[in-house]
Amino acid sequence: MGFLTGKRALITGIASNRSIAYGIAQAMHREGADIALTYQNDKLKPRVEKFAAEFGSSIVLPCDVSEDSHIEATFQQLGEHWDGFDILVHAIAYAPKEELEGSIVDNTSKAGFSQSQDISAYSFLAMARYAKPMMQERQGAMLTLSYLGAVAAIPNYNAMGMAKASLEAGVRFMAADLGPQGIRVNGISAGPIRTLAASGITGFRKMLDHFEENSPLRRNVTIEEVGNTAAFLCSDLASGITGEITYVDGGWNILGMSGMPTE
Ligand code: NAD
Repeated sequence: MGFLTGKRALITGIASNRSIAYGIAQAMHREGADIALTYQNDKLKPRVEKFAAEFGSSIVLPCDVSEDSHIEATFQQLGEHWDGFDILVHAIAYAPKEELEGSIVDNTSKAGFSQSQDISAYSFLAMARYAKPMMQERQGAMLTLSYLGAVAAIPNYNAMGMAKASLEAGVRFMAADLGPQGIRVNGISAGPIRTLAASGITGFRKMLDHFEENSPLRRNVTIEEVGNTAAFLCSDLASGITGEITYVDGGWNILGMSGMPTE
């Protein structure tokens, strides 16, 4: 019996079988959770339906987080399948490509900055608002995905770094807000992984190579490793953990300086 047996998990953000959310769904399904998935647009729908079938699920709902009304509709539809659920996974981020290169001071537009914050940070808060009534009295857990750019300056990450900083602050505020109702809120800060979203970041391939050569574990991390940590954090095994950002990055974040010769 898996450690998520009897839990219901709503997982957002699957766009391909390289998506971090796919790794999370795999791990949660393996540990016994019932899975529901969302898709951003009609183009992704057939693909996400196929993935849901892999996880023994037929609950596949549209959810474009750019409008609160869409998010509300998703949870209304979820209510037709489930009277409540235990786990919400937010694995969604977006910034226009031109925001992800060069000088943050010269290149960041008001519109691009706002859109990055809206899709990548505000949407977690908005989802939590509609999820909350369905997660009462169940020892629920919410989880989002962040990156080191929230707390350190990473070349080209720019407006997305500021969105992740806002998202991580959101994890703490939301954890304090929802804790009295027994709902935990956490984040995972993952190392770089080759996914559709990551390919939009200028220089990403070089970043992967640099990471492999210099991180304490001397390799990149996988969606399976992030998935396993997500399954743990959303399970009752992690019942004392809330408001935390857990790094799944091969130890990269502990380095004060990377890539320096030792002699
Ligand atoms: P991905 O491209 O597979 O997933 C990103 C998802 O965001 C897609 O499923 C896409 O449909 C969804 N999305 C974007 N705009 C949306 C909208 N308006 N409404 C609904 N969904 C929308 O890439 P990924 O790397 O798996 O990204 C998942 C999360 O992990 C993101 O928050 C990302 O910032 C984070 N993350 C990624 C890495 C990495 O290196 N890949 C590292 C750390 C954190």
